[in-house]
Amino acid sequence: MRVSFLGLGAIGTPMAVHAAAKSTLTVWNRTRAKADAFATAHKAAIADSPRAAAEVADVVITCLPTSREVEALLDGADGLLAGLAKGGLLIDCTSGDPASSRRIAARLAQQGVAFIDAPVSGGTSGAVNGTLTVMCGGDAATFERARPVLEMFGKKIVLVGPVGAGDALKAVNNAWLAIHLWSAAEGLAALVKAGVSPAAALDVINASSGRSNSSENLIPQRVLTGAFPRTFRLALLEKDVAIAADFIREQRVPSAVTQQVAELFRQARVALGEEADHVEVVKLIEEWSGVEIRS
Ligand code: NDP
Repeated sequence: MRVSFLGLGAIGTPMAVHAAAKSTLTVWNRTRAKADAFATAHKAAIADSPRAAAEVADVVITCLPTSREVEALLDGADGLLAGLAKGGLLIDCTSGDPASSRRIAARLAQQGVAFIDAPVSGGTSGAVNGTLTVMCGGDAATFERARPVLEMFGKKIVLVGPVGAGDALKAVNNAWLAIHLWSAAEGLAALVKAGVSPAAALDVINASSGRSNSSENLIPQRVLTGAFPRTFRLALLEKDVAIAADFIREQRVPSAVTQQVAELFRQARVALGEEADHVEVVKLIEEWSGVEIRS
């Protein structure tokens, strides 16, 4: 199968590594040097434009920061729409927003190209290990076409509804991540101030009902150690929580907690900058409370 992969970022790169091993791969990246480095390290050709990438592929995968960048790649003489042939398939692994994905799907449908939103979860380590969870929005026939491609880097691959449903589910998932992370940091900072060891607190909570991925993995591995690696930009999580807050409100469901956390993450991104990792929000809570959560 001929696959083109557009967007060699923190998670796109390890996903594309699997695709290089299991397909005839072409890559395109806005910053050309990253595509050059990828093609040197892995078996892949380089496309000079999104159009050229689409022209040589049966399936095109995009993995960009937001749906805005995906939509922008469609247009122009060098855009994806100029290169996608009737019968083609675009799989968007961006954590996008449902309305944009529906718009993109409608535009592609006009020229006989299928679309599926297929955001992923599992972090960069899940991408390296090929164990990502992929949540898909689209029709059943398109999903069955996309499945063998998604199996190159995904483990749990689920069709959750029509176009946009994958984006909606991903946004809700990441809103929970943000809520768990923020509230865990608040609670741990208070416990540390009261003289409780954070390692002991997590040991107990992880055998109790308050546990989460933040308490079981992120905080022990990244905060207690002081490592704070940069794997998933805070700005991207801020985007996801904002999508979730809009989605919940649009469904006429009370969204107070998600709205509040969306605003907290917006403020955190302003304070910490575009390149900060999402777990670095804990540093803000440490600063405001005057303690460090370290083992
Ligand atoms: P990065 O910020 O690391 O990479 C973004 C990629 O998009 C780069 O290849 C960048 O190109 C490209 N890009 C940025 N702006 C544009 C543009 N205007 N036009 C064309 N290309 C552009 O993001 P990630 O790889 O971390 O994330 C990608 C998607 O996956 C996001 O939607 C994110 O929310 C989601 N995701 C990320 C996870 C993670 O752990 N990192 C986990 C799960 C989902 P360039 O090299 O030129 O900057």
